[in-house]
This record gives sequence, C-alpha cells and structure tokens, in this order.
Amino acid sequence: MESKSDAFVRIATQTHTTSASSSVVDYAIEMRNVNVYYGAFRAVKDVNLQIEARKITAIIGPSGCGKSTVIRCFNRMNELIPGARLTGEVLFHGKNIYDPDVDPVQVRRLIGMVFQKPNPFPKSIYENIAWGARINGYRGNMDELVEESLRQAALWDEVKDDLHKNALALSGGQQQRLCIARTIAVKPEIILMDEPCSALDPIATLKIEDLMRELARDYTIIIVTHNMQQAARVSDYTAFFTVDEDRAGVMVEYGPTNQIFTRPRDRRTEDYITGRFG
Ligand code: ADP
Repeated sequence: MESKSDAFVRIATQTHTTSASSSVVDYAIEMRNVNVYYGAFRAVKDVNLQIEARKITAIIGPSGCGKSTVIRCFNRMNELIPGARLTGEVLFHGKNIYDPDVDPVQVRRLIGMVFQKPNPFPKSIYENIAWGARINGYRGNMDELVEESLRQAALWDEVKDDLHKNALALSGGQQQRLCIARTIAVKPEIILMDEPCSALDPIATLKIEDLMRELARDYTIIIVTHNMQQAARVSDYTAFFTVDEDRAGVMVEYGPTNQIFTRPRDRRTEDYITGRFG
C-alpha cells in the first residue's frame, strides 16, 4: 500500500508538472484564512497570501508582527511549539499541507528551512550534506550530490579540499551557505529563510543575497527580514505585516517589491518604509 509520504510526494510532483506547463501565474504555495494562536493569544490574523513560484518573496514588518510565525506555517514548524495552533489552509499544489493524511516530515523535505543562526551539525562538511540525503533514502552517487549541492550554494571552491574538516571551523557566512547546501541536497521546491543574514557581516550578507538570486532560478524562496534594504535589494515581492489593535499580526499590503517601496497603497506601509514607525 502507498504510504502517506509517498502519496504526498506523488501529488506534489504530478501537479507540479501541470502547473509548470501552463501559462497562468504559477503559485508555489498559498495561505487561505490562516490564523495562528499561541494558547489563547492570536498571533496572526486572517492571512491570505499567494507565493509565486521561482521568485523571492520577502516578509517585512516591525518586531512582534508575526513574521517568524507566518514563515513557520509554510512547513508546519509551528506545530513543534507547544500550545501553537493553526486554523485555515496552506495549499501546496492544491493540497492542504495540514490535512491529516499529510506527513509533516515530507512537507519539510519539499519545503526546507534555513534559520537565523547557522546551525551546521558538529560533523564534517561532507557529512552535513550527506546526512539529510541519506535519511531521505538517497541512493545515487553521494560524492556527486555533495559537490553539486556545494556548487549550487556557491561554497564548493572554498571547501573542496577540506570536505572532511569539521563544519564548525567554517566562518559564519560559510556555515550559512553550508546550511543552504544541506537544504538543497534533499531537492526541495521551496526554501524558507528566517532572517538568514542577521548573524552575518555585510560582506557575507551580500554573498547570501547573490546566492539567493541564483537559487531563485530553480527554487521558490520566502525570506523574513527586519532589514528593509535587504528586502528591497533581493526580493521580487514584498508582504508588509503590522500589529492591529489586539496585538495580532495582520498583513497590510502585498505586491511587487518596487511598488511597495515606491508607491505603497496603505498609510501604514508608507509610515514603516519611510521610518516613521517600527
Ligand atoms: P516577528 O517574527 O515579527 O518578530 P513572531 O512571529 O516572533 O514575530 O511573534 C509574533 C507574536 O507571537 C509576538 O507577540 C510573540 O510574542 C508571540 N510569540 C511568538 N512565539 C511564541 C511562542 N512560542 N509562545 C508564545 N507566544 C509567542
């Protein structure tokens, strides 16, 4: 009998082929009426958001407006937080990833995540890449996969002679690119990045931003950033969130990054991007 995870991967792959060949806008993932609660507190209110495939979408807004909570909804990471609860739907190729027949482990393989602080395993560079692929049942040539993933993450040239050195010896920027390589190695469709540069210096930050633009040829990227210049530099679309009178996070405005930064439609967006608030 087909397992839950096989069924989810099959649905994702089948519909992916169909949507890629159609001329209408190809949405990688979509939130419908999403609310997130921590206990009785509603942290995120009624979010509807369609993310275009193979583009970079930035989520911006003042601290506490729910950016991290929202990005965690895209791969069911909130359910690892005790007391967190979601209502609404997150549709991935038309399938709600919160349906009871969907395996969250498969969701997190297809929708990977890179965190604020680089978190390589205390193992070799090679093992950092190979480990995830191996537990996902990868049976191809591991050396090739490691090289390909490190090349895609723009790290290969810097580490190719040190593959068996401990990953923790790398610089912060290199560690973050290694974490991106590890995410890519399991062949996701979407990469979520929660403040991926906040622990990095400006040079390392620019390298990650260049890398994101490269990766957007093949992957859909959603990034949370508190850095408005970063959102303006790197993203195609921007979603601006703020807190409402109940302290719940709400999405105020969403559109092409250029429009949000030059012709915001909502006064609250304008106040934020011009530095009057937040
Ligand atoms: P942002 O990323 O925009 O700073 P968060 O998503 O971290 O915002 O937080 C949104 C709201 O949810 C805040 O009021 C925060 O205090 C609350 N919150 C976040 N994580 C938790 C948690 N694990 N338990 C309880 N409340 C939380």
